[in-house]
Amino acid sequence: MNNVIIHGTRLSAILFLLATGIMLSLNAKAQEPKSLALLETEVKEALNCSFITTDGVPDSEAYHVLDFILQDSKTFNFRHPYLRKIVIANADRGEYISNSGYFTEIQLPNTRDMPFLDYSLKHEIGHVIDHVTDARGSKEWKAVRKHIDTKSISTYAGKNDEELFAEMIAYRASQEYGKTLAPFPGDIEKMINKYLFN
Ligand SMILES: [Zn+2]
Repeated sequence: MNNVIIHGTRLSAILFLLATGIMLSLNAKAQEPKSLALLETEVKEALNCSFITTDGVPDSEAYHVLDFILQDSKTFNFRHPYLRKIVIANADRGEYISNSGYFTEIQLPNTRDMPFLDYSLKHEIGHVIDHVTDARGSKEWKAVRKHIDTKSISTYAGKNDEELFAEMIAYRASQEYGKTLAPFPGDIEKMINKYLFN
């Protein structure tokens, strides 16, 4: 009887050591730092974007921003056929730049404030969507525009229609949409969904 117990104890000790060993090696793999170049390649792929520049931003800071974009892209699809360039800049806010034709570029702030970075990314992607689909020229937009309550979205949404559309995309794409952020009325949601998810 005693023997059986000792045997059982040894077996669990061996299993425990084995499991710990596997977990440690998995952990070591997960923590192995990726090069900035590899991270850039992964972000380009995830967002379907051709160029990334991190001019003037220290590599370690650019790494945080790019790593966040990559993680964010796993919860939200940012792939867009006309986003060509992302610039990580020493700026306090995001910016959307439309070059000739459909060559669009977004600038993102060099920040470790991840909710702000998430919002900035989605807002700027909103401008890309608006620009390439001419969303604000559509009859769906014109049909619902009159009863959009800009104040319920954000203060910035009241600036002009261009910012309103970008704010609506950021609002709809937020993980808080339908939770702490009240959903849009049905027809407005339908219009935004069409541009966000198609
Ligand atoms: Zn904007």
